[in-house]
Amino acid sequence: MSRFFSEKLERLVPYTPGEQPKDMNYIKLNTNESPFPPSPVAVELANRETLNYQLYSDPECTPLVEYASEYFNVQRDEILFTNGSDEILNFAFMAFCDKDHPAYFADITYGFYRVFAEINCVPYEMIPLRKDFTVNVEDYVNKKGVIFIANPNAPTGIALPLSDIERIIVSNPQSVVVVDEAYVDFGADSSVSLVNKYDNLLVTQTFSKSRSMAGARLGFGISNKEIIRDLNTVKYSTNPYNVNRVTMAAGLGALKDDDYMRSNCESIVKTRERVKGVLSDMGFEMTPSVTNFLFVKHKKIGGELIYRELKDKGILVRHFNTDPLKDYNRITVGTDKEMDALIDAIGSILEEENENN
Ligand code: PMP
Repeated sequence: MSRFFSEKLERLVPYTPGEQPKDMNYIKLNTNESPFPPSPVAVELANRETLNYQLYSDPECTPLVEYASEYFNVQRDEILFTNGSDEILNFAFMAFCDKDHPAYFADITYGFYRVFAEINCVPYEMIPLRKDFTVNVEDYVNKKGVIFIANPNAPTGIALPLSDIERIIVSNPQSVVVVDEAYVDFGADSSVSLVNKYDNLLVTQTFSKSRSMAGARLGFGISNKEIIRDLNTVKYSTNPYNVNRVTMAAGLGALKDDDYMRSNCESIVKTRERVKGVLSDMGFEMTPSVTNFLFVKHKKIGGELIYRELKDKGILVRHFNTDPLKDYNRITVGTDKEMDALIDAIGSILEEENENN
């Protein structure tokens, strides 16, 4: 830390992104990226758009907003695109949280919520999940602040039904409820349909997972036009050109090529369910994930050991070194071939461990 670093950030512990190692070619199952390339339509539109790089991007993301509003069946002023969904989540902290409106989120959830609260110097309360990592909806009733819920949750992969989300929204008329749907396309119900029913709901989604565009950085939020206007006030006060023109073009291509996205999601879901079965036969316990990742714990072998041994064998998974997560690993669902390599590697780790004990 330099002697100039602001006192208010002295204690800030930044978010730790998943490893992006350069030392060898790993099978990367650690950051929930898609194993499939982006849609060819997205690539084609993006390539063409590079020819216009000398111009700033359109701050209103016009063609993308027009297409997306029809796609999601909302008005144009009810949607806002951002630099990844991380940015719109941060905008929500900036726009709606303050000393009288703390942020509420689960103690085990997306790690960035805590960081966004801290960097924006707003108070927050972490609400414990139950022992089985499920959300007790009643813990979220009658809060006076801003509620952040990842649905499905990460790193557990567990989703709440819409009726539970609706209960939280209805019981918090004084609070904005932010539903982070980064993984919704892999098997959960989206709350977008509730946006026109309640004035306190903001739904965020991303192109990073189901649309294979993590490196392009594109996310968005859907809400009523007043909330979107507030978020735009923050956007235009920080970075009006937050979505670059190539990403915007790629995003439009990805939305247009809906069949491609759906068929990739179907394969990931099929692979996920197959691997769930194999891993449980190998002695793993896991949460009922409806995402593109599994959250697994072996009955006999610790999470860190499995993480390290897999890394030695060229396979990266995500290990969190804190209680009660340290027995677990979060494993992104890759292609069938990648998952077969994972299963083989786990098989030999278990064998080695058996021999040693
Ligand atoms: N929400 C959750 C729950 C996530 O896991 C992630 C990705 N790590 C994000 C939001 C942010 O994704 P992005 O900024 O790539 O859209």
